[in-house]
Amino acid sequence: MQGSFTLGIVGVGKIARDQHLPAIAANPGFQLVASASRNAQVDNVRNYHDIDALLAGEPELDAVSLCAPPQVRYAQARAALMAGKHVMLEKPPGASVSEVEALRDLAREHKRTLFATWHSRCASAVEPARAWLAGRTVRAVHVRWKEDVRRWHPGQQWIWEPGGLGVFDPGINALSIVTRILPREVLLRGATLHVPSDCATPIAAELDCIDTGGAPVRAEFDWRHGPVEQWEIDVETADGLLSISEGGKRLAIDGKPVALEGEREYAALYERFHWLIAHETDDVDVRPLRLVADAFLVGKHVQVEPFGQ
Ligand code: NAP
Repeated sequence: MQGSFTLGIVGVGKIARDQHLPAIAANPGFQLVASASRNAQVDNVRNYHDIDALLAGEPELDAVSLCAPPQVRYAQARAALMAGKHVMLEKPPGASVSEVEALRDLAREHKRTLFATWHSRCASAVEPARAWLAGRTVRAVHVRWKEDVRRWHPGQQWIWEPGGLGVFDPGINALSIVTRILPREVLLRGATLHVPSDCATPIAAELDCIDTGGAPVRAEFDWRHGPVEQWEIDVETADGLLSISEGGKRLAIDGKPVALEGEREYAALYERFHWLIAHETDDVDVRPLRLVADAFLVGKHVQVEPFGQ
């Protein structure tokens, strides 16, 4: 590890408290010195109301980690990059593909690290699955990513507003895994988006994709599911069936479980952020977000009953 970087965290809500703060505390490569949040404070650091106040008050800060919803990601990331900070983005990296690409260019122009994280790619099953699939012939892929929105997003209004992604907020996790493990690129051919009459974003979606070899890649996302979550990806190959379940915690080949390392998604993200800063490089892969954007572009919108928050 080459040195320690000072860090500020922005948007102290559910994911910041559940995952980021413990992961940062356990990583000697980062020293959390500040936070910016309108309604929350972090113990033992300097607290600011918003990112502009944080940037003004912390001229020596090395990096920020942005954990607010995607609709404000671009403005926050741009301000941080312009102030000379390295920036880590929660997923999704933005509310649109074009703003993420603009951030990548800005980071390169300012010679700062931009890390667009995809935490599900650090799930234990993902790299073993990628290794097993490398060089194999994929025949079909089936993704089922279903959960109860009221359990996983209680009271969150931003998910139903434009840019909030709706069911693609969890669904993009599956797409981040699929685009990592498959040997070929995935392209979207059609989609159906089920949008509650009182919401701007879908509560369920089906995506029909193919890989560049022509294998069908079908994804079903549903927020009206429960009580047990279904976060599964099946990949049929010429050599057998690879199955990821529990969001990437489990892997099986032809039904036989594969032994995996323990879960450490956010620990791995902060290790990678440190490595990227130390090596003066970036990591911005927009492919999962582009598939979601394509689904909004070509998808058939079907109005369904109001969500009734
Ligand atoms: P959240 O708790 O609703 O939001 C995080 C915090 O962002 C809020 O507490 C709020 O803090 C701040 N914020 C909200 N709206 C804002 C606005 N318009 N301007 C500035 N700050 C705003 O959401 P979350 O569940 O933590 O999710 C945040 C991001 O993490 C999302 O992109 C999500 O996809 C991702 N994520 C979430 C989970 C999860 O399990 N929840 C898992 C992985 C990734 P203040 O009011 O104090 O400013």
